[in-house]
Amino acid sequence: MKPPPFTYHRPTTVDEAVQLLAAHADEGPKVLAGGQSLVPLMSMRLAAPGHLVDINHLPGLDAVEVTSDGVRVGALARHAQVERDDAAYDAVPLLRQALQHVAHPTIRNRGTSVGSLVHGDPAAEMTAVLALLDGEVELVGPDGSRRVGAGEFFVGPMETEHADEEVAVAATFRRPPAGTGSAFLELARRHGDYAMCGVAALVTVDSDLAITAARVGLISVGPGPVVVDLGPALSGSGGAVDPGRTRELLDEAIDPEDDIHATAAYRRRLAHVLTERALRQAHDEARSRRVGGTDGGSVEGAA
Ligand code: FAD
Repeated sequence: MKPPPFTYHRPTTVDEAVQLLAAHADEGPKVLAGGQSLVPLMSMRLAAPGHLVDINHLPGLDAVEVTSDGVRVGALARHAQVERDDAAYDAVPLLRQALQHVAHPTIRNRGTSVGSLVHGDPAAEMTAVLALLDGEVELVGPDGSRRVGAGEFFVGPMETEHADEEVAVAATFRRPPAGTGSAFLELARRHGDYAMCGVAALVTVDSDLAITAARVGLISVGPGPVVVDLGPALSGSGGAVDPGRTRELLDEAIDPEDDIHATAAYRRRLAHVLTERALRQAHDEARSRRVGGTDGGSVEGAA
């Protein structure tokens, strides 16, 4: 398994990388980040970029920063680095909760979270996390920089709102509102494989511990991440989530397909079951954060 021939470039600034991508735009240039998706695709001859622009030597892109908005992840921050970052976990626990399901430790040591977003695999956990948290991706191209919200970024399977001449320099995952708990559940044939279905959940409770908002983001049940607002399924003054209405809302939003791993019907069933369980976990976490007074702090510290 050998990749087709390509020319390798090793720029040392973002501007140089963008110039190289623009100069070879008609020969299918590709950014090389962790290489955990691109290199296998090339070796299987499913991708044949004429030029590889390796961004691994660009300074300043490997930071994971907690800002007033949330967590800003640089393009060279590896999955494992984001997963282990305690400040990022305190601000947005869903990052670690989801990253624990991404591939295997060796792949997480090299693969980047931003690379995963740009790659846009409909089974990639981080796409649902960005979409559920209303995050955005920062892109730099020949005409300057732009920010694209998750709603527009995921266009279709392996297709994102990103031009060949652009480098994604960071992604921001927004901090959920106070009183919010989160959870990520998925089912894969083996731990670390791509999931047959995965669900990220956010549940918000008020100071009386009543649920005020519930949203989920699903993977592997559509052409990209599918976000479902379960507001219409909240019922009663205690704000319980009605399971029947939840299933109806899911069924309207998802569009799973048959493949060698699972039938569409099985994926739909998984979406129902995993959503119910993820909502329960997120609700428990939301209550602990309120009761333990740990909003904005570590969930582990909650009573
Ligand atoms: P690369 O492979 O370097 O690039 C992927 C694509 O994105 C390329 O088209 C590249 O040009 C583009 N790209 C990357 N970074 C940028 C950038 N900054 N700017 C512009 N374009 C960019 N992922 C999951 O989410 N869940 C899984 O369960 C999972 N399981 C895996 C199992 C195996 C065996 C393997 C090999 C991989 C698995 N992955 C999984 C993929 C892994 O998470 C990848 O690391 C990730 O999808 C891509 O990140 P990367 O940095 O390796 O990108």
